[in-house]
Amino acid sequence: MSNISLFQAKYQELKSRLIQIQDLEAASSLLNWDQTTYMPTGGTYARGRQIATIKELAHEKRTSPIIGQLLEDLRPYEQSLPYDSNEASLIRITRRDYQRATRIPSEFMAKLCQHQTVSYETWVKAKSFKDFSLVQPCLEKTLELSQELASFFPYKHIADPLIDFVDEDMTVAILRPLFSQLRQKLRPIVEAITSAPPMEDSCLYQYYPKEQQLKFGHTVIERIGFDFQRGRQDETPHPFTSSFSIGDVRITTRVYEDNFSEALFSTIHEVGHALYEQGIDIELEGTPLARGSSSGIHESQSRLWENMVGRSRGFWECFYPQLQGIFLKQLSSISISKFYQAINKVVKSPIRTDADEVTYNLHVMIRFDLELAMLEGKLAVQDLPEAWNERYKTDLGILPANNSEGVMQDVHWYGEMIGGMFQGYTLGNLMAAQIYQAAIKYNPEVTVAIEQGDFTLLHEWLQQNIYQHGRKYTAHELINRLTGKSLSIDPFINYIQDKYSNMYHLKAPISA
Ligand code: ZN
Repeated sequence: MSNISLFQAKYQELKSRLIQIQDLEAASSLLNWDQTTYMPTGGTYARGRQIATIKELAHEKRTSPIIGQLLEDLRPYEQSLPYDSNEASLIRITRRDYQRATRIPSEFMAKLCQHQTVSYETWVKAKSFKDFSLVQPCLEKTLELSQELASFFPYKHIADPLIDFVDEDMTVAILRPLFSQLRQKLRPIVEAITSAPPMEDSCLYQYYPKEQQLKFGHTVIERIGFDFQRGRQDETPHPFTSSFSIGDVRITTRVYEDNFSEALFSTIHEVGHALYEQGIDIELEGTPLARGSSSGIHESQSRLWENMVGRSRGFWECFYPQLQGIFLKQLSSISISKFYQAINKVVKSPIRTDADEVTYNLHVMIRFDLELAMLEGKLAVQDLPEAWNERYKTDLGILPANNSEGVMQDVHWYGEMIGGMFQGYTLGNLMAAQIYQAAIKYNPEVTVAIEQGDFTLLHEWLQQNIYQHGRKYTAHELINRLTGKSLSIDPFINYIQDKYSNMYHLKAPISA
């Protein structure tokens, strides 16, 4: 056999092993999707075991020394190929995954998973009793385990390996100054907006029948580009997106009949994630490249569609007449300007998931800083509620009414880990603004097309520049390719200043 055909044979072997691992992963997430949507509750116990069995098999295959050997043997082949070829990218990304998976002892993973289940259940109870002390011992254990997990990797900052799991290439050294700049710019903007007379949004809180909301949402997401031949939508208490293959990407939504914006905007958000997964190059199907690049980039796609498109004036120039036609009684006397203001109302609220796009990042950055302080050993878990409330007072000028509305509001620390849990949300908002700016620069007609209900220009640009590549490029690489610059807070700040100084008739520009 010649060298080249030897390499090709080894590459094929690697690829078919990887596809088997992906198939197991897809089966496990399908079981999970089923559990959250249609499974009778009686199936819970067995389902947990079934998912664990499949995950264990996938882990064994993923950490098999044969994969390690193939990756070693394929090093010269990888180096002989262009960096962004499918082959070199697959070898490179698999090597990263392999090194990561093999550093963590499987006994540790088992211990962590077991603890997470107990901690999650304890959190549900503690939250309902509004009593942090019930979950405090669990969270202390989670902190220890998170520190132990980080210790399996070399690092500059203890949070770096945990951040790297989801946002490759991002480190505390990059994020801390970026977020601190962002906070400094945002706080005076939030102050200026919230000192102005508040927007009237009662039109959103009338009776909106569920069937009609779902029907309207369906029309919107089909027009945006969600492919129902390769996806579906179901209802769950917490919306999410699951991809089982490029040809089967599912979203879920929840509908409140007394709140119009909840279902629609969370649906558009999930569609942003789904368009990304549906848009991956079919050549990458079944491989570890057939996923989004990082949690930040993924979130940038959902936030771009949800906020920059879905909450824009142009979007409603197109859809508002249709919406008024469906909800005549509720909206016939509400002008498009009033509706636009209502869906963009800025208010300091204690809950992250309810936050508008201006205050949202302040919530995220509080969590990011507290995670770092805990991991560094500078903040004890027992002092967390006080530190939380302190930060809400300084950053947002409000105090949560109790710990359920405060430090216990998000599941992340209680169901997963401490570290790497939150930065992706803010990165997503920053990247969304930077990417959208690049899309408009490249195609100035994008916004006019949106007013006319034509989303193909934007969709195709994102498809071409982001979606198709799957995991080939890291977030930094993608942002640099698209915008010629590194990640920056400026496009986001400019976007917020433009949009809100107009809307709130503030003496523009609001500056820090
Ligand atoms: Zn999301």
